[in-house]
Amino acid sequence: MGVLLGSPATAVVVTGGASGIGRACAEALAEVGRAVAIWDRAGGAAKEASDAIAAAYGVATCAVEIDVTDSSGFADAGARTREAVGPIGGLVHCAGVVSVETVEQLDEARWDFVLDVNLRAEALLVRALLPELRAAGPGSAIVGLSSIEAIVANGAIPAYCASKAGLLGLTRSLAQGLAHEGIRVNAVCPGYVNTPMTKPHLSISPEVRAQFEQHVPLGRIAAPEEIARVVRFLLSDEASYVTGAEVVVDGGITKV
Ligand code: NAD
Repeated sequence: MGVLLGSPATAVVVTGGASGIGRACAEALAEVGRAVAIWDRAGGAAKEASDAIAAAYGVATCAVEIDVTDSSGFADAGARTREAVGPIGGLVHCAGVVSVETVEQLDEARWDFVLDVNLRAEALLVRALLPELRAAGPGSAIVGLSSIEAIVANGAIPAYCASKAGLLGLTRSLAQGLAHEGIRVNAVCPGYVNTPMTKPHLSISPEVRAQFEQHVPLGRIAAPEEIARVVRFLLSDEASYVTGAEVVVDGGITKV
């Protein structure tokens, strides 16, 4: 087990924790001794991640197969999670989807789906888990995965851009609404990260990958762990004065 980084002794729910950045978040949190609950629609992969993390880090874990677009399951999932891993003092909303279609190609059902998973779910998850986060005591915190696509234009993915920009507004609203209770709410905006979501684009050809890398002042695609360490910080007491913030983790794309 690594340095504790002022981590509360409460469990963290990680949606989308079966893959990519979500799984890396669950591992990073477990590394400092936090119990983790992996909520993901991919039930088999969630169970595999939960078992592997428990074995590697010796923390309590659980897997919950759940579709975050259906809030009717949230209360039951919260109760099962508390029973399995103890009080819930953190939420990472990492479940996310992207649909590549220009505005002319927009399909209404796909628009709703992207907005529901990436944006609406975070509001409804917070609504459902608030009693748990309050009961877990001081230091409870929430992190949503936004994106640099919330900040810079990308004409190929309008629904995704809208969902991620909306998440920044939601973050600020939740942060203000919950600040008096000491519950902090922040967003992380990653750049290009090596995960199953980006694999179809990054693996088109070595030339396409090189084009992505040339965009990044640091000259490379991020590993999921490099995003997860920032999420872990925001969930820890080390970030006790950080709320309503959007933390950009993009190798310099947007600012350098
Ligand atoms: P990923 O595809 O590897 O993982 C996403 C996970 O979310 C999967 O396990 C999937 O099963 C789960 N999921 C999707 N829809 C769900 C639903 N309705 N209910 C429950 N679970 C669901 O993706 P990733 O690259 O790790 O992305 C994680 C988050 O980070 C997403 O919100 C994404 O938009 C954001 N992000 C990713 C990048 C990147 O470059 N990979 C960049 C910026 C932001």
